[in-house]
Amino acid sequence: MTNLKGKVALVTGGTGGIGAAICLRLAEAGAKVVTNYRNEEKARKWQEAAKTKGFDIAVYQADVSSLEECTDLVKQIEAEIGPVDILVNNAGITKDTTFRKMTKEQWDAVMNINLDSLYNVTKQVIDHMTSSGWGRIINISSINGQKGQIGQTNYTASKAGMHGFTMSLAQEVARKGVTVNTVSPGYIATEMVMAVPEEIRDKIIAGIPVGRLGTSEEIAALVGYLCSEEAGFATGADFSINGGQHMM
Ligand code: NDP
Repeated sequence: MTNLKGKVALVTGGTGGIGAAICLRLAEAGAKVVTNYRNEEKARKWQEAAKTKGFDIAVYQADVSSLEECTDLVKQIEAEIGPVDILVNNAGITKDTTFRKMTKEQWDAVMNINLDSLYNVTKQVIDHMTSSGWGRIINISSINGQKGQIGQTNYTASKAGMHGFTMSLAQEVARKGVTVNTVSPGYIATEMVMAVPEEIRDKIIAGIPVGRLGTSEEIAALVGYLCSEEAGFATGADFSINGGQHMM
């Protein structure tokens, strides 16, 4: 297991399916883990549940689509926990519909939360990472950002955009000991996917060569590796983790 003792990790959207597994994985590796929430009640319940498993995860209110709230979030983390060494940009939403039916609100909501958030959050932590000579940034994109998907022009544009951000920032900060990577999961057995009717889920699974959905823990294990010292040569890459559903 990677040793992240002494590192502070901010995982956005940590109370969701994949984010929660990432939080626990990084905490297991010794990092001080922080996440943010929009819904306080859900976040406090989640924090309590993590505590019963032996994990002490800090939670703060902040909407990743607000530059002001992200600025305040990182100031608070720095004051109460310490500067952020590891950032996992994981918070994301979908507002699916075909492009012809898509409203500007549906477009903007997805762009603001999935893509503008990269500016809003990363901007607050990058100077500490470059000046300390070590940092890890992992952007959680999607298989659909790589291959496109009917009904998701907003989502796929935002997810493909994430990797453009990854490649450019990776080049800008490579010499300062900071790596920036994208992780693109395929279909993962989160609440959202498990809520899909069984016959549709079975059709999805039939299209996955390994014959099953992925797990949040499998995504978290890859993120854990990318946060490690041994992953220092991996930067600017887009890691597909999709059971062979889409090969690039
Ligand atoms: P969930 O819906 O379970 O979790 C999303 C998390 O993001 C929640 O904690 C949510 O908090 C948070 N969030 C959403 N909007 C905001 C916001 N504006 N500000 C702060 N936090 C916000 O999603 P998953 O765990 O399934 O997905 C996590 C990431 O993985 C996403 O980026 C998604 O696109 C990507 N992904 C998921 C796949 C899957 O199969 N599940 C496949 C490929 C990619 P709250 O509930 O408080 O709003």
